[in-house]
Amino acid sequence: MKPVIALVGRPNVGKSTLFNRLTRTRNAIVADFPGLTRDRQYGDGKLGERPYTVVDTGGIGESEEGIDRPMTDQALQAVGEADAVLFLVDGRAGLTAADQQVASELRKLPKPVFLAVNKTDGLEPETAMADFYALGLSDLFPIAAAHGRGVRAMMDAVLTAFPEAEPEEDAVDNPDTVRVAVLGRPNVGKSTLINRILGEERVIVYDHAGTTRDSIEVPFTRQPRDGGEPRDYVLIDTAGIRRRGKVHETVEKFSVIKALQAVDAAQVVVLVVDAQDGITEQDLHLIGYTIEAGRALVVAVNKWDNLESDHKDWVKREVGRRLHFAPWVKVHYISALHGTGVGDLFAFVERAWDSAFIKLGSNALTRMLEDITGSHPPPRNGRFRAKLRYAHLGGSNPPTVVIHGNRTESLPNSYQRYLENRFRELLKIEGSPIRLELKSGD
Ligand code: GDP
Ligand code: GDP
Repeated sequence: MKPVIALVGRPNVGKSTLFNRLTRTRNAIVADFPGLTRDRQYGDGKLGERPYTVVDTGGIGESEEGIDRPMTDQALQAVGEADAVLFLVDGRAGLTAADQQVASELRKLPKPVFLAVNKTDGLEPETAMADFYALGLSDLFPIAAAHGRGVRAMMDAVLTAFPEAEPEEDAVDNPDTVRVAVLGRPNVGKSTLINRILGEERVIVYDHAGTTRDSIEVPFTRQPRDGGEPRDYVLIDTAGIRRRGKVHETVEKFSVIKALQAVDAAQVVVLVVDAQDGITEQDLHLIGYTIEAGRALVVAVNKWDNLESDHKDWVKREVGRRLHFAPWVKVHYISALHGTGVGDLFAFVERAWDSAFIKLGSNALTRMLEDITGSHPPPRNGRFRAKLRYAHLGGSNPPTVVIHGNRTESLPNSYQRYLENRFRELLKIEGSPIRLELKSGD
């Protein structure tokens, strides 16, 4: 399992600096998508072969009056969902009242808390830490987040508390199993949709559901409508619909961490939103993370039956506007309750999976590259012009086109986008991100 580590600490102690250092392998989700809230940040990182997720809980004890409740609800929720807590303090500023307040809350937690004494660069570590033993936490680490000092040793200790990740085991033993996660805020209709899918005549649900953390994995096979071979699926159900059965009274709290873990465990993400609300900030967060993770993505705007017809065009425009940064994301307008559009949605999930796992030899891909550069060659950049020679597929989910050539680093971004769009078109990639990797021979 991939442990989730929450970063807490007063403003200015170095949380963002540490966050950036810990998530270098894949940066924060929200990276370049405009309009996303930045109250909490999630990122993935690795120490050697051991992956983890870091959550920066934002500042605590920010306001003067906040001193009696130093942890915001947000921070508390993140801490509650995390497997371990990294409590950051400032070794130069010394111990503060807010630090003591936070420590007393953290000591009550039934989970490991690690105290990172930051900014110890140029200080004698033992002297810098001396103050902080008073916090009553036993695992202290002197670090300098800005320089990386001590970070590795600390993370090593943090991760030792968790078992090494086991290789993913498919509930259905087939490499072509389609792993789908159905995500969305509470009450948008996820369980209605899942029950609708699993209740279909052409679906056989197997009885050996597995669990990953808080989600349940439901294996099933489904006969495609066109009469082709049945396909194996695993449905990753974060809402716990199967466990709870039909009873669905308590509206669960939306857990971002749970959702992100489901994204990691899935190949295709179906994001369900309520037609009345459209795509919310939280949905955009999830979309950003899903695309960063390279997963295929389908958006289902549910409860379409609830809308007056003159409102529908407006909703469609709004949805399009919010998704302008990823025009390839397909939107389906459905009614899970009545079953309208669900079949098409599912057919598209299959297409998105096929796109994500496309196979093509280097010769065919290189011919495409020649066509693409032939009709519109790379522009000159100063004295240089990139030369693109050949291409091969370097990976799936997301499909990754590796292009070999010379001076590829001089290719302008606009041309890279052109390449990406043309490859998307020619490879008929639908509903999945696509990546380009440029290699230079000189
Ligand atoms: P946050 O508010 O907790 O996220 O803190 P930041 O990461 O924004 O850091 C606050 C300030 O502390 C910035 O000016 C950083 O450059 C500085 N800082 C962070 N880590 C270190 C460190 O290891 N040593 C020193 N000397 N300064 C640091
Ligand atoms: P979840 O929390 O996302 O799993 O949402 P549920 O599936 O429990 O649905 C929440 C509520 O929305 C229930 O009362 C459903 O009957 C209702 N609902 C779900 N899908 C639709 C739909 O397509 N149209 C309408 N009108 N209501 C729906």
